[in-house]
This record gives sequence, structure tokens and C-alpha cells, in this order.
Amino acid sequence: MENQITGHTQLAGLYAKPARHSISPLMHTTAFRETGIDAVYLSFDVEPEDLGNSMAAVKTLGMMGVNLSMPHKMAVIEFLDELSPAAELIGAVNTVVNDKGRLIGHNTDGVGFMQALKDIAVEPVGQEMTVIGAGGAATAIISQAALDGVKQINVFNRKDEFYEKIAAKLADIAAKTGCQINLQDLANESALTTALQESMLLVNATGVGMKPNDDLMPIPSAELLTENLAVFDAIYNPRHTRLLQEAAAKGLKTSNGLGMLIHQGAEAFRLWTGQEMPVAVIRPLVEKA
Ligand code: NAP
Repeated sequence: MENQITGHTQLAGLYAKPARHSISPLMHTTAFRETGIDAVYLSFDVEPEDLGNSMAAVKTLGMMGVNLSMPHKMAVIEFLDELSPAAELIGAVNTVVNDKGRLIGHNTDGVGFMQALKDIAVEPVGQEMTVIGAGGAATAIISQAALDGVKQINVFNRKDEFYEKIAAKLADIAAKTGCQINLQDLANESALTTALQESMLLVNATGVGMKPNDDLMPIPSAELLTENLAVFDAIYNPRHTRLLQEAAAKGLKTSNGLGMLIHQGAEAFRLWTGQEMPVAVIRPLVEKA
């Protein structure tokens, strides 16, 4: 059935810059159609200086809500009425729900990550995991894992000018969740070796492995991939990074970032509509896109 635009059709959308490359319109408009919800989802290129007016438009036009992507995930917070516990902890918002004129900020990236792990039957709750990188994706992953009850998270990042700020952020997440979170220098190979021996999951939350560096891995050697590990790479393009290829060659469970991308969208859809996104229909479309 085609989407029929009516006088009642509701609007959701993406605010980003650039926004036009996004697969979210395909995902959500298909999901609206499949679930019989009279709504559409459009992409909007929003300049940083127009974000306030654009968020006001969500209220004045009665939009269901919006997704936020770069560069608006943190800047949007000042225009919201309330934050979910995860968005508060992460300090970034990727989904806003218009709740009868109140704008509620959520962050569904971490939920998407945890759900993607369920797809490969990996359950880190109560266990230890290691994350490479400490940027936006990593912060969402670490925060949700900590909120859900992962016991210990070893985070490795380059020791650059952001390192002290990252340390403070991770200490805050640890204090608020009770999860033990350690930050270490990515160059410390012996610490990384120990962390991976003790972890049940390795997460790459850096862009290392994307083109043009698709021959690189975020860890120094495949020898560090011990048999106790599952390996999750937040990258979805390419689908099979070198890290995932090496892990699969050792028979480890692996997942690329596509599942996280789909499930963060599914969580936003659930927040807007109260319904489950038909992931089985959406996944092949996203894989092809
Ligand atoms: P970001 O905020 O810019 O963070 C990038 C992180 O990678 C930082 O910790 C950075 O360390 C580290 N890094 C960058 N280059 C590195 C290198 N050569 N060696 C070691 N570490 C390096 O980016 P992001 O938004 O978190 O995105 C990170 C990755 O996740 C990207 O591949 C992105 O496509 C993916 N992602 C996937 C999803 C999904 O739904 N699957 C969602 C969001 C992002 P420094 O602090 O030292 O710069």
C-alpha cells in the first residue's frame, strides 16, 4: 500500500547538516506504511544558527518529533523541556518526542547497540567489555551498557588533547551508574592485551576501518582477539571491516554497526508511535541502501 498524504498526515523528520544522505526517511516512512500509521518522515538540512527556530517549529507545526544528527546532538539540549536518563547521562540527544507541546530528548544509540548484541546472542550484562574510542558513539554505547548493568568497561583512546575531558566524562558515568569504567591509553598494548583477555566483548567505536583506511584495525594485531571475545564494530560501511574479518576467521561472534543503526531507529519509532518497527521488513531495505 502506498502512503496516502491526507489532512491528518503527521510529520517526523531528521535535522542535520548534511541530512540528505540519510537512510532514516526510508526506514521510518516504510515503517509508518507497514504499521498503518498516517505519517511521513523527511530530511531537513538545518544550519546550526537555525536549530532554535527549527525546534520551535516542532511545537508550532505539531510534529511528532525529530531525530538529530551531526552537528546538533548536543546543541539541541538547550531547546528541550526534559531529557531521558540516558540522554542526560550521555549529554547528547538523537531523538526528540513532542509530547503535547513538551519536547523530550532521548538518546537511542545505546539502546540500538544493546539490541544489536541481542541479535547475535551476546549478553554483556554483569560482565566485562572493552571499548576502543570515546567519542559520540562510544559515549552512547558505554552509558547504555552501564545503565543496563555491565559490570566493567575498559575504554581505550588515544592520549591526545581530549583525554582529560574524556576521563572526567567517564568518571561521571561510572559514579552515576555504579559501573566500573577505566580509561587507558590506546598505545598501552599490555593493558589492552589484559583487558581483552578478561572481556567477553570488544567494541570498535572509532572510524578506523572505514575507507580510505579499510586495511587498518583499531587494535595493533589480530593476535589480541582471544577466543572469549565477541566483536562489535560500530562501522557499517564497509560491512566487513578488517577487524570483523579477522574475528570471523577465528570463529568469533561478530556484528557490524548496521544492527545498531536499525535498532536506534526502531527505538525512536517506538517512542513516537508506541508501536514496534517491523525490523524484518526494514533490515533488507537498509542493507541494500
Ligand atoms: P567521534 O565522536 O568523532 O569519535 C571518534 C572516536 O574515534 C574518538 O574517540 C577518536 O579519538 C577515535 N579515533 C579517531 N581516529 C582514530 C585513530 N586513527 N586511531 C584511534 N582512534 C581514533 O565519532 P563517532 O560519532 O563516535 O563515530 C565513531 C564511529 O562510529 C564511526 O565509524 C561512525 O560511523 C560509527 N557510528 C556508528 C553508528 C551506528 O549506528 N552504527 C552511530 C554513530 C557512529 P580522539 O579522541 O583521539 O580523536
